[in-house]
Amino acid sequence: MSTYDERPWLELYGDQKADYELEFPSALDMFEAGLAADPDGVAIRYFDGVITRKELDELSDALAVGLLDRGFQPGDRLAVYLQNVPQFVICMVAAWKAGGLLVSINPMSRERELTYLLGDSGAKVLVALDDLYRDVGTNVVPDSPVELVLTTSGLDYQTRNDPRLFDGQRIEPGEGAEDFAAFIDKYRGQQPPPVELGLDDTAFLTYTSGTTGVPKGAMNTHRNVVFTAMVYRDFVRFQPGGEIFGIAPLFHITGLIGHIAISLLAPMPLILAFRFEPAVVLDALKEHRPTYTIGAITAFNALINHPDFTKDAFSSFTSVYSGGAPISPSAERAFETAAGIQVQNAYGLTETTSPMTANPFGAQPPVDETSGALSVGVPVPSTVVRIQGEDGADLPLGEIGEIVAKGPQVVAGYWQKPKETAEGIPNGSLHSGDVGFMNEDGWIFIVDRKKDMINASGYKVWPREVEDVLGEHPAVLEAAVVGVPDEKRGETVKAFVSLKSGASTTPEELIAHAKQRMAAYKYPRELVILDELPKTVTGKILRRELRE
Ligand code: AMP
Repeated sequence: MSTYDERPWLELYGDQKADYELEFPSALDMFEAGLAADPDGVAIRYFDGVITRKELDELSDALAVGLLDRGFQPGDRLAVYLQNVPQFVICMVAAWKAGGLLVSINPMSRERELTYLLGDSGAKVLVALDDLYRDVGTNVVPDSPVELVLTTSGLDYQTRNDPRLFDGQRIEPGEGAEDFAAFIDKYRGQQPPPVELGLDDTAFLTYTSGTTGVPKGAMNTHRNVVFTAMVYRDFVRFQPGGEIFGIAPLFHITGLIGHIAISLLAPMPLILAFRFEPAVVLDALKEHRPTYTIGAITAFNALINHPDFTKDAFSSFTSVYSGGAPISPSAERAFETAAGIQVQNAYGLTETTSPMTANPFGAQPPVDETSGALSVGVPVPSTVVRIQGEDGADLPLGEIGEIVAKGPQVVAGYWQKPKETAEGIPNGSLHSGDVGFMNEDGWIFIVDRKKDMINASGYKVWPREVEDVLGEHPAVLEAAVVGVPDEKRGETVKAFVSLKSGASTTPEELIAHAKQRMAAYKYPRELVILDELPKTVTGKILRRELRE
């Protein structure tokens, strides 16, 4: 048995249980228990709109009946292409009630990305925001597996229509689509037949490029969802009685679990504000007085540095966690000074269904003197995290290697990608591609990355995808993309390009080319045209040299 199996970190747990027994046989049962406990309680607050748990149940019943009526079968995929709106939660519960699963799509996705995600997941149903469907979806859906499109508006379930977010206009469903609310109304009052869902069934497909750069659907099972929701309740202390504010995007695993799943489990109200617009978020914090949130540190930075920020914005909070991107000790201090509450660190991947390590609530995490890194916490219950060398053997405590995790949060694999599953998650052990070490007490520190990923405000960018898009420009011979430090986004995307002989173009034109074809966080903010890209003798581009 290695030192890691002995779980030295348990000493830091305080009154926390070392292992969790799963409380529900599926995430749908978890929702139903919350419903039974508090049917009239608020499930969602959306500006001035409120949806109770009972209403969420009725809306998702009707949607599930409608899906089944239109041929949705057990195991089928319902894709959501939505911002942080109540419809997202309705779709999630309805997909489960209809025996299927949810595919969460980043609303920033453009045509190229949406085509891939719908095709790869084989989604039968798409629920999209009206403008996203009009601008992007209509060009993609006809050649996709999607058979039913429902469109909906960010204006629904509220009457405030904040002009900072909305122009007040509803958009008609458009060709090939039906209106979400009208569709639900047709099936109001009906209930779907009971479904058999088990812990090993997939609850969501969440797309990530993992360590290799190929986008893959991580299969987050009902076990993963129930377990991580319990981690949020017991370890991260988002406890019943409070209210959760959705700062992270719902499509990302942080939002799916740290906002939605925990709100179903507790149960507690989930406050949504369409998308992260700092001035709107600050108003919502003052209006609703939430107690918990988790998001990327860059979002918290944007809030505390906003001209409208006042210290009372966070005075109702009892637990604030940051995850998805590195947080520096100075950023942690700056937030605490400004907001009057500690921001605690949690670390995980899409493949670990949100946290695999977290700061035990209220503990003061150590800082590594050599790297200056703030600890990402200790492994959460029922989880073993180990540090491994290139040969796959455990390294002694204190030595730097790849962070590898095993526990009830690790996904079952990648959707229809057995080879990538065997490589990235051998025997259920998730190889994170993050490089770090564990100290004698069990605190984990991330000091580097094995993977080429760029982390821009928690949004992950894979060089290969950006390089492919740049390579599609007729003047481009080769492109190489790297991450460079950025004050606001943590890291940002920089490209180096060489041109075909005789071709000419400008950096501005190439940036515009990429911007048009990919989600806004991915296109290069800086681009340099070189005569030739630096390479090894075997022709591999020397990214490190470019970065430096
Ligand atoms: P995603 O699959 O989008 O959740 O991205 C996972 C990656 O985000 C990890 O492999 C890390 O590189 C990074 N990450 C997540 N949480 C943290 C954290 N607390 N500190 C540093 N990096 C993090």
